Amino acid sequence: MPGRHFLHIPGPTNVPDRILNAMHVPMEDHRSPALPKLVLPLFAGLKRLFRTEAGTPFIFPASGTGAWEAVLVNTLSTGDRVLSSRFGQFSHLWIDLAQRHGLDVVVQDEAWGTGASPERIHDALRADAGHAIKAVMVVQNETATGVASDIAAVRRAMDDAGHPALLFVDGVSSVASMDFRMDDWGVDGIVTGSQKGLMLPSGLGICCVSPRALEAQRRAGTNAPLRRTFFDFDDMLRANKDGFFPYTPSLPLLYGLREALAMLEEEGLDNVIARHRFLAGGVRAAVLEGWGLQLCAREPKWHSDTVSAVMVPEGANGADVIRRAYERYNLALGAGLAQVAGKLFRIGHLGDLNELMCLGAITGAEMAMRDTGIAIRPGSGAAAAEEHYRQQAGEGAMARAAE
Ligand code: PLP
Repeated sequence: MPGRHFLHIPGPTNVPDRILNAMHVPMEDHRSPALPKLVLPLFAGLKRLFRTEAGTPFIFPASGTGAWEAVLVNTLSTGDRVLSSRFGQFSHLWIDLAQRHGLDVVVQDEAWGTGASPERIHDALRADAGHAIKAVMVVQNETATGVASDIAAVRRAMDDAGHPALLFVDGVSSVASMDFRMDDWGVDGIVTGSQKGLMLPSGLGICCVSPRALEAQRRAGTNAPLRRTFFDFDDMLRANKDGFFPYTPSLPLLYGLREALAMLEEEGLDNVIARHRFLAGGVRAAVLEGWGLQLCAREPKWHSDTVSAVMVPEGANGADVIRRAYERYNLALGAGLAQVAGKLFRIGHLGDLNELMCLGAITGAEMAMRDTGIAIRPGSGAAAAEEHYRQQAGEGAMARAAE
């Protein structure tokens, strides 16, 4: 199909040319004395990205799922109890992974379209007088429903309950695009992947853990530790301290990560976050004001700044819209997963992105919806988004991004 493909799923996201070029490198010896010059600054850059002084970052040749596993298997023992909220396919999958490792997961089900409840987390921890719960797992941005949870509020709830559980956060579709503060929010383990806010291909499972989590790792080692080989933090730490890896790393992705971190720092992390909020506002204006449709996220406090899950009207099928957008307009939209399959389509708006790219996705979705029989006023979504994007405030957000 002629013209550019419009990739608007919530990851993988568009890889900027600068990063593509940075990854275009010949292979080299991964044990050469030159490698630490590439690798050690990556750890420093990741700490700035996660906003932590005390945390220890890890880079695995994996995806977000691998980083999920790494945090759990290194810090917990067989049969440990953990508490987790479930409100979408990704929170479900992380719980499933924990259960398959023999963890005893206390699941707090929340309605899809809402997120983690700090109140319910508080109550469960308060009731756990014996401190059997070793960790709380929360997905900051549920990519399946476009719902953001308030991690700072979860931390406050844990502190109010006076409970020592570790706090593990999935930031796969929020890190490098929505606010995340590891130290301020007392996060003990943050998990992400390369293919979303970091604007890279998939292939890196990245996590960062607090000193308390590393301490728990040592304790878990003397208990009945969960099995780990590939994801063993100790093997990583031994090699990483000198700027190497215990096995063959993906050098192109490491060069890409260096470029991605440089781009994020040049724009400024606060500006990156403001840009995502601004661009998301335009997409939400298109959905709510222009098309008169609903988001899966039930209230503004749940709105995600990286992905909008658009409910299609009763009788319509989101999968038809996605197929039409792909086949006719060269636009990739995200599918509805599990219990929301067919009920929605998702517009990803994260990574290397500006207003006109969002308008392309909005217009393409609008045409695909009309083609599949959904009654939408022509141009209504784009018009609402345009009004949002022409605001003064947005000019500030985008100008800072361009500096
Ligand atoms: N967590 C969230 C919130 C995600 O969106 C995804 C993937 O989209 C994952 C975890 C799993 O990551 P990966 O597909 O990189 O293994």
